[in-house]
Amino acid sequence: MESHTEENKSLNFIEEIIEKDLQEGRYSSILTRFPPEPNGYLHMGHASSICLNFGVAKKFGGKTNLRFDDTNPVTEDTEYVESIQEDVKWLGFEWENVFYASDYFDQLYDYAVQLIRQGDAYVCDLSAEEIAAQKGTPTEAGTESPYRNRSVEENLQLFADMKAGKFQEGEKTLRAKIDMASTNMLMRDPLLYRIKYAHHHRTGDKWCIYPMYDFAHGQSDSIERITHSICTLEFVPHRELYDWCIARLGIYPSKQYEFARLNVNYTVMSKRKLLQLVNEQHVTGWDDPRMPTISGMRRRGYTAAAIREFCDRAGITKREKVVDISLLEFCVREELNKTALRRMVVFDPVKVVITNMDENEILLDIENNPEDENGGTRQVAFTRELYIEREDFMENPPKKYFRMAIGQHVRLKGAYIVTCHDVVKDADGNITEIHCTYIPESRSGQDTSGLKVQGTLHWVSVQHALPVEIREYDRLFKVENPNAEEGDFKDYINENSLHVIPRAMAEPALAEATTANHFQFLRKGYFYPDKESGKGHIIFNKTVGLKDSWAKKG
Ligand code: ATP
Ligand code: MG
Repeated sequence: MESHTEENKSLNFIEEIIEKDLQEGRYSSILTRFPPEPNGYLHMGHASSICLNFGVAKKFGGKTNLRFDDTNPVTEDTEYVESIQEDVKWLGFEWENVFYASDYFDQLYDYAVQLIRQGDAYVCDLSAEEIAAQKGTPTEAGTESPYRNRSVEENLQLFADMKAGKFQEGEKTLRAKIDMASTNMLMRDPLLYRIKYAHHHRTGDKWCIYPMYDFAHGQSDSIERITHSICTLEFVPHRELYDWCIARLGIYPSKQYEFARLNVNYTVMSKRKLLQLVNEQHVTGWDDPRMPTISGMRRRGYTAAAIREFCDRAGITKREKVVDISLLEFCVREELNKTALRRMVVFDPVKVVITNMDENEILLDIENNPEDENGGTRQVAFTRELYIEREDFMENPPKKYFRMAIGQHVRLKGAYIVTCHDVVKDADGNITEIHCTYIPESRSGQDTSGLKVQGTLHWVSVQHALPVEIREYDRLFKVENPNAEEGDFKDYINENSLHVIPRAMAEPALAEATTANHFQFLRKGYFYPDKESGKGHIIFNKTVGLKDSWAKKG
């Protein structure tokens, strides 16, 4: 872990580029953009890109635009647009402007016309299959399209006809006229526009031709005067085309930089795959707490600061790597340890009777968070009947068993030392009651009993107990990399990733729990109220355990 922190102090390679650009006066200020396609909810990978794009701008006094890359009308939706904005804000970032690539459709059309006029683009009648077949191979030049040398006038007319809806889908495309022998396959007369009769979430039915990624992204960057356009490594081969389009159009020279995408084990991060999990009901929705989406992590109780810290520690590199999910859990745990309110919840209750107590309760003040000196206390009633965890009692304990056993002292958290003297069983031999006495001089904080006990147990007053539902989560996949396994990634789903405890017993303070607070249930882990939780049915999601249960036992 330390090495990550060390790395953190130095700039990542993108920041180094920007620092140098600013020092050498190439820009007076920088402008980045985060360009999601609104075809799904944002995931951890996007969080990394958001932290990078907004983070560098913040660091160097620049700004960041949020741009919806909505050039593919088929998969896009307003629901996604809204969730993306919510997630970026929740992560703690502020954009300068919200733009939509579709706002530039008129401008992009004019750019295309300009390329045609310059002899840099032509309308091609080849089908997608024919174009693919004539592309050549990386070592063999492609074949020039027979439509490559159409006159400017003919191209202008045909392109206008494409726009006017005079052709079927696939009948014609607009292609850049570059070099069918280029060693970069993307430079072999790439498609700039295709015909698509689809309703667009913003432009409606105005358009039936849509620009390809390569003829929208760089131009959108340029229109907004983005200085540093940061994307993931798979776009390295696109950079030449990015620069070509900008140079031929003579527009603002935005520059593209690439970094390795964030991969995390035991999950999948492609929106297409996440959508399958949702549609096929392997999860309850995009924000299911097992999902690697920002909304899922939020619902589970991960905090924005912990996710930012994780992105920071995972780092920005030029080479692909897989980051261990336990690094994220570590960051979450580290933060929640400082901020979570401590509460007591008994998951599998067995009743304890304090036989030397009467029906009067003793009110205790128990600290909310020992890590926070301003955390305050809450009042908890200690009563004659209590619940403890069934697993915290043993009839025939081994040596060094420090929990509850007959004849043994154990402390009840924030309360008293008790001594067990008896158990009551039902006809089947199951323990139904444990009888103890408490030692009045042993009250926490004012203990004069002189007794030393090793174990401290959490407990809940029977009389005041609040029934709550607990949802515990495990990894969504059984293997580290479901993408790399044979067959479908869904064959590796962990069917036991959700474990529900329908009726745990909580201390009454949790009746007031809201998503404004995170909780540590003593000895159990960190928990967060689910969005469906409410009066009458209180639900907590387990955010993460107290320790890394996956760490190799050593
Ligand atoms: P997916 O394959 O999940 O659909 P995408 O790259 O198609 O991802 P976009 O909405 O196009 O998703 O991405 C928006 C931005 O987020 C892009 O700049 C993209 O490079 C970045 N991004 C997406 N996934 C990751 C990742 N795993 N790591 C880092 N950045 C990512
Ligand atoms: Mg994409």
